[in-house]
Formats: sequence, C-alpha cells, structure tokens
Amino acid sequence: MIVFLPVLLSNGKQTSGTAALIGDVSWGCQGMYQEGKPTLLTLPLAVINASTLVSQDEVLAATAALQVQVHRDFAPAWQVDADLAVVVPGGPPPTGAWWIVIMDNSDLGAALGYHDLTSQGLPLGKVFVESSKKSGQAWTTLLSHEILEMLSDPFICLTALAPTAFGTYLYAYENCDACQSDQFGYLIGDQLVSDFCLPAWFDANRAGGAGPFDFKQHIKQPFALLPGGYAMCRNLSAGTGWTLVTAPGATLTYRDRPRVGSRRERRKIAYPNWLKSNVTVGSDFASAQLMRPRL
Ligand SMILES: [Zn+2]
Repeated sequence: MIVFLPVLLSNGKQTSGTAALIGDVSWGCQGMYQEGKPTLLTLPLAVINASTLVSQDEVLAATAALQVQVHRDFAPAWQVDADLAVVVPGGPPPTGAWWIVIMDNSDLGAALGYHDLTSQGLPLGKVFVESSKKSGQAWTTLLSHEILEMLSDPFICLTALAPTAFGTYLYAYENCDACQSDQFGYLIGDQLVSDFCLPAWFDANRAGGAGPFDFKQHIKQPFALLPGGYAMCRNLSAGTGWTLVTAPGATLTYRDRPRVGSRRERRKIAYPNWLKSNVTVGSDFASAQLMRPRL
C-alpha cells in the first residue's frame, strides 16, 4: 500500500474535499479516505513533448496507451490514478499539474528551463529519447517507466527495508527498474509499455511467498531483478552511499551513470537543493487547452 500520499497531503487526516499544500499549490482533492475506506486519487499529469526525435502524433498515441495502463493496470495495485493530457505543440505547460517532459537528452534539461520541479514546486519527470533510441529500447517503455515511478514516489525519497546476511539495505522505491528491459514489457494497442513491480516487491516479509511481485508476474521474490533490471540501494551497515545493483551477469558501463535530471541522479541530491523550472506557464490544468487522446 502506498504510504506517501496521506503524509504529504494532510498528515494522515485526509477527508473528502479538504485542501492540501504540495509545492506552492493548495490543492483541493477527492480524498484518500472516505468513510474510513481508501479511495483513488487522480493526479493531473501534463505530457510535454520537447523532443525533436518523436512527433506529436507519436506522443499522442503513446499517451492514449499509457492512460489505459495507469488507470486499468497500475491504479488498482498502487492506489493512485492519473489524468494524462498532452500540451499542444509549442504551448506553455499548465499550472496545477505535474509535468512529464520528453526531451532528446539530459543536456537539454537546463537549457529548456525544465529543472527538478515544476514552476510551482510540483513533481516533474523527464524522459531522454536519444539514449533510449541509441540503446535500442522503445522510448514508449521509458515514458511508461518514468510515469509509473513518478506516481508512486514523486519526490524520489521513499525506501523499503531489506534485511540480508550482509546487513540491512534500503531499496529505493523505483517500481520499474527491476523489470525495465523491453522484453518484459507488454503491448497496449500497438504501444509497448513497461512491466512494473507491485508493492509486494518492496516487502521483505513476502520472501518465500507466492507473489505476484510484478504486474506481468515474471519476478519470483521481493527485491529480485530480471535480466536487464537494476536497483538503487544503500547498505546501512556498511555506511556506503547509493549503489546500483544489477542482475547477475550484467556489466556496468559508463552509459549506466545517472543522467542529470534522471530520478537516479536526483535521489542523490537533497530535496532542498532541487530547482524549480523557469519556463513560462499557461492556464490551470482544468481549463488549459490540452489534448486528451484516449483508446
Ligand atoms: Zn526507474
């Protein structure tokens, strides 16, 4: 069960219709609990195409499939849903929304004005298409990966405890890393999307249990990695910093170093040092001219 929303939104006192402060924005929200029962929160997520390598039509097609993935597959497991809307070409990103920005590579993040948070201090995700294309990975699985991780840990701060024979480890709540290879993704329409870990993957008490631990049911244990997968963890006993662990047989390359603006890079930077974007913003998400492709 996801834990960050009650804490971030209202210190656990969330009820229907109350307001909460995230970033600089006071949000009215539907409430995580109504009459004592958890309810889904639907987050406003604006998709911004700042890339020269994918067309707006490609982004619209991917977004339609990802809306299905978030609502049909992800939300029942993680108790958080999203309303995905694409910003019109050249248009300003909306206020009152989280942003996911598609760009060619990480060098462009600062140049385009997209830093660590939206202009209002809300969560901001980035996808770098050039590196995915060079490595032969579908950019749509990367977009899926970033959106799903953003929804479950938007401020890149959550961890899970994993006791081992070598000490106690903290595992980062990154729910697509362990299964991130395209071969474990799946099609929605003609769009390839990422497999994702379920909350059970982060629960050491489920070791030896039946699972499932990921949506496509490839993984057999908590904290286990599929070929091509990886995880960020810290050995608390050893006092080392964040370490990248990979599936057996994998070799690290320079390309595996975290890109500036990636989730792995930002996890190593203290939140007070995160920078807000300085792009010009438009109307509120609810009233802005946005495109909502749907299957
Ligand atoms: Zn990830």
